[in-house]
Amino acid sequence: MIRISEIFGPTIQGEGALIGQPTVFVRTGGCDYRCSWCDTLHAVDSEFRHEWKPMSTEDILKEIEKLSSSKPLMVSLSGGNPAIQPLGDLINLGHEKDYQFALETQGSIAKDWFTDLDILTLSPKPPSSGHNTDWDAFDECVKAAGPKTRTVMKIVIFDDADYAYAQDAAKRYPDLPLYLQPGNHQVDGNPDMDGLNQRLLWLAERVTNDNWHTAHVLPQLHVMLWGNQKGV
Ligand code: SF4
Repeated sequence: MIRISEIFGPTIQGEGALIGQPTVFVRTGGCDYRCSWCDTLHAVDSEFRHEWKPMSTEDILKEIEKLSSSKPLMVSLSGGNPAIQPLGDLINLGHEKDYQFALETQGSIAKDWFTDLDILTLSPKPPSSGHNTDWDAFDECVKAAGPKTRTVMKIVIFDDADYAYAQDAAKRYPDLPLYLQPGNHQVDGNPDMDGLNQRLLWLAERVTNDNWHTAHVLPQLHVMLWGNQKGV
């Protein structure tokens, strides 16, 4: 059984390499991190555990098919940390029906089924999260995905220390496409859109002034469209 916080969509992927692409989200419950600015605490904090539902692979796929009117699309496996859950069978069964699978994780837990994913987004957490990155564990995730899966790196940036961290991460993994986005300080109620826009501008200018030509700078599209609403 897989611990599910919510399944919703189709919506638009708001972040990273697949930004703008229609997708159904499968959000699993539980995370081995507790980032200071986490915007999905309902899938992290054990306070919400009673809302998480154990579901079989078959039932999850049925729900994806129902939401997408059985028209195959990209399924985003998210969390919490979805790498905690046994998702290999879901990916294989979904592939048989022409669905594609993207997974986003901080890179703390590697699974052999990463190699079956269509795209793996590794999102190491910068200093502002309150966590230290275990780069050995991160390395295991990159290796587990192997050459078949398209692997990218995404980092949220809140301040100078986070920016320096992202530069270090890019040096460690020069072959991974890198997506940077300004972090959302206000995850309860309405987001501070002016603040987000200012940080996006700051980030864009910083990257261009530094001649950092391999980084992609993106907004959080879903926050622009739907604010901090859950399940959209
Ligand atoms: S790793 Fe992601 S889901 Fe887990 S606490 Fe951090 S931001 Fe939240």
